[in-house]
Amino acid sequence: NLKKYFPVTRGIIFQHTVGQVRAVDDVSFSIERGQTLGLVGESGSGKTTIGRTIVRLYEPTSGEILFSGKDLGKARNDELWNMRRQVQMVFQDPFASLNPRFTIGSLVAEPMHIYKMGTKQEIQDRTKELLDVVGLRPEYIDRYPHEFSGGQRQRIAVARALALNPELIIADEPVSALDVSVRAQVLNLLRSLQRQFNLTYLFISHDLSVVRHVADRVAVMYLGKIVEIADRDELYLAPKHPYTRALLSAVPIPDPQIEKKRQRIILTGDLPSPMHIPTGCRFHTRCPMAQDICKQVEPAFEAKEGREHYAACHFSDQVTSPIAKV
Ligand code: SF4
Repeated sequence: NLKKYFPVTRGIIFQHTVGQVRAVDDVSFSIERGQTLGLVGESGSGKTTIGRTIVRLYEPTSGEILFSGKDLGKARNDELWNMRRQVQMVFQDPFASLNPRFTIGSLVAEPMHIYKMGTKQEIQDRTKELLDVVGLRPEYIDRYPHEFSGGQRQRIAVARALALNPELIIADEPVSALDVSVRAQVLNLLRSLQRQFNLTYLFISHDLSVVRHVADRVAVMYLGKIVEIADRDELYLAPKHPYTRALLSAVPIPDPQIEKKRQRIILTGDLPSPMHIPTGCRFHTRCPMAQDICKQVEPAFEAKEGREHYAACHFSDQVTSPIAKV
């Protein structure tokens, strides 16, 4: 039941609140240890806010964030300090997330110095080891971020995230800023690190084809809410929400024979403002299947057929896959 609302204020000297942006609006999900949950949705759906709230870059408005039984949302002082060691984040833009004035050695070593994880020599040895783990030569330790390509910079960001031996990594669009040619390499690296260190990932992306490559389960977000969650293959073959169906219809298919027969669903209109969420089902203003009831009654987020498959739609039994028919 996590909520994160941002107040909207007006005025320069005398500020007053004129409304609130309901960026994350009563969201619940779980991730099993060693697994990857893909969190998908278009820009403004609230997926990045969830990631940032979990690592406490934002304070939650209400709800719980349970990590190994402890509520991260209420952690203070020592507890927060320890939590920050176990939960790390990899950001979208490796050009912005690495300080250009520091060598990559000091960037990767910095968290270990802060957490006093050994002597100077031990930390330097571990830094070289981490560079090796992410596929970079340890001799690069004294180079600066500008000497590396986008893919290599994201590897450095991953090495920095691994420095504190975290259990959960929140990867926020980790390959979106990269050239298509290097995306697969970074995704494969994340997968192999997961096996090697038994990592758990919350993988945030707007791209269902990327998520399909890495996730065990997939949650689809729309306007601050999760509208569907299911095991990856089940979600791709048998979606239960019209929004998921529309997203699936936009995933490129490399086989021209299959591509020819695939249904395209074009959603009209823009994502409504999270300050003015539509009544009833929040997707009704753009849903090709909307009926009168959808404008008035908010659909419950409930179990559908299949293993742990949940969706919020009055007519989920009529939703078909745009790809399964071919
Ligand atoms: Fe579309 Fe109605 Fe289902 Fe909402 S409840 S997704 S508007 S069919």
